[in-house]
Order: sequence, then structure tokens, then C-alpha cells
Amino acid sequence: MSTARIVGRVRSCGECPKRAYWSGGKYQCSVIQQPLTDASGIPAFCPLPLDPSALLAKSAWEEKNVTAIMQAAADKAMTDDIDQMRHLVLTAASMLGISPRLGA
Ligand code: SF4
Repeated sequence: MSTARIVGRVRSCGECPKRAYWSGGKYQCSVIQQPLTDASGIPAFCPLPLDPSALLAKSAWEEKNVTAIMQAAADKAMTDDIDQMRHLVLTAASMLGISPRLGA
């Protein structure tokens, strides 16, 4: 039994090995049998996993933004603007996937 390998990065359906001729000059995604209308991009229904470098970049961007929001909330905590501080904390929590528990 062999171990699976990653073939490479795909930036459009046009360069994807899963793009297959369908009929009448049209192509489809052979993974999910969906017609492809534009081979220059990747549609939202693409079943391929995201490139790890894209996930890392997204994670770094989110960390930077959450840090900036929490710094602003900490600054607001030193003033009387509690509503703004609450808004900033809830925004940062939302970015981290945290939902406030009502009544807690
Ligand atoms: S939808 Fe995704 S898997 Fe299907 S052909 Fe396009 S890039 Fe490839």
C-alpha cells in the first residue's frame, strides 16, 4: 500500500487535473460533476482543500486584527466608554469563534 501524495497547487479550474471535458465544448468538475462556466478562477463549490499557505496567511491576518481590536478594547477600558469597549471585545470574540453565553 502506498502513501498518498499532493499533486500541486491549483489556481484555476483551467489548470486543474480534475477538470474534464463534458459535452458540446463544455467542461465540468469531475469530482462533483458540476459544470464549469469559467476556467480562469476557482468556484465556491470547489471541493479541494485550501492551500496550507493560504490558511497560514489567513490565520496571521486574523491574529493581527484580533490583537489590534483587543488593544483598542484595553485602551477603552481606561476610559468611561464601556459600550465601545464591550463592542470591541465582542468583535474580537466573534473573530475567534467565541459566542457570548447569555445570562452568564
Ligand atoms: S472546481 Fe476545484 S476540483 Fe473542480 S475542476 Fe475546478 S479547481 Fe478542480
